[in-house]
Order: sequence, then structure tokens, then C-alpha cells
Amino acid sequence: MSTRSVIARKDGNSWAGRFHHWDGYPEGLGKTLVENATGPFAGNLEGLLKILIDDHPAGWDTIVDRDLSLPPTYRAASPENVINCILCGKNSLAHFCQEQKNHPQPLPCAGGYAFHLGHQHTPDPAEIERLSHFPVCYCHGKEYDTEEQTITPETLGETWCEYVYVIDPAVQTMEVLGEFISKGEPDKLAWKSLGTVNLAHPAADWLEKLAQI
Ligand SMILES: [Zn+2]
Ligand SMILES: [Zn+2]
Ligand SMILES: [Zn+2]
Repeated sequence: MSTRSVIARKDGNSWAGRFHHWDGYPEGLGKTLVENATGPFAGNLEGLLKILIDDHPAGWDTIVDRDLSLPPTYRAASPENVINCILCGKNSLAHFCQEQKNHPQPLPCAGGYAFHLGHQHTPDPAEIERLSHFPVCYCHGKEYDTEEQTITPETLGETWCEYVYVIDPAVQTMEVLGEFISKGEPDKLAWKSLGTVNLAHPAADWLEKLAQI
């Protein structure tokens, strides 16, 4: 689900961070951040923030349930779209009638729009499984696009984000901010702190303890 959010580093009384497109709610991105902070990056939150913020200036499509030790190498949340067909070796788009310039009439070919080559795009399931563990950023990969985007409290309002995760490596905490619609003022959006997670020793029920929006 597209739930836009921000992964941020605490900076004095403020914060600065990167955009993250998919599954930004606490059960999604929040859980992945806590799992990394208490697992592979336990005691090394600066290492975690280096990857999440410094190394990927254009931000993230998704890191949810991905392995951060793997380098982001492609830009697509659906890996089947970037894997060539095991039947013909061609890419996904080559199989769709509507993707062909000057397609012979009539449209579509026999079997339908997905059968331009006489069969449907058939990616190797093992390759889909392998790629499904890779994090996906907006700065590394086939559609290279390195526009840096730093989100701060001042620019947050223009991003349509719903959650912000502010990690403070000095005290090993993560504050979760959530956007809500003020009662009686449906066109006015505001932010509140849903809670702060102790990343050194998170409570077993840290997720349930967060306030609801
Ligand atoms: Zn094919
Ligand atoms: Zn066709
Ligand atoms: Zn990147």
C-alpha cells in the first residue's frame, strides 16, 4: 500500500531525512526499522542511518521486509517487471500489444493484450524470489535518477507523507510522528508524536503502545 513516510535523523531540536514510498505505517516501515536497529545494526545506528539517509540521497521506494545488506540495484517494487522472460529472453514490455509502436491492426493479438509474442511474460520464479529481498531506492538502478531530496519539518507539508520516523543515535531512540486531520477542520493537517521507541531495549509491545492517529 502506498503510505508515504520519512526516515529521519535527529538534528538538534529538528530532524532531516529521506522519503519512503510504500507501507510507511508503523506495522510496515516502523517494524522494519526496529528489526534492523535491534538486529543487524544493534549498537550501530549511525551505520543504519548512513545507509538509509547518506548513501541514498533520492530516497526509497521500499525497504520494508528487505535485506539492507544487499545493495539496491534496480528501481521497481515489482521485480517481475525487470526480469526477462524464460521463454523468449525478452523484457516484460515486449509481451504487451499496447507497448508496441505501430502495432499491426487489429489490436490486440490473438489471446489478448498480454500475448503479443503468443505467450505471457514468464519470469523465473527463483529470480523473483531472489530480487524480492533487495531494498529499492530512487537513486541506484536502471532508471537512474539521482535527484537529492531532503525532507525537514519545514518541507514536510509538501510531501503528502503520513508518518515520520526520527532516529536519534545519541540516545538510541526512534520517535514516531503521525499526521492527522484536525476535528472540525478537515482541510487542515497537523502532526503529533505517537510515541518514542527505545531502540536499545524496545518493549515487546512497542507497536501496541504507539498512539493511534
Ligand atoms: Zn516471453
Ligand atoms: Zn500484439
Ligand atoms: Zn540509491
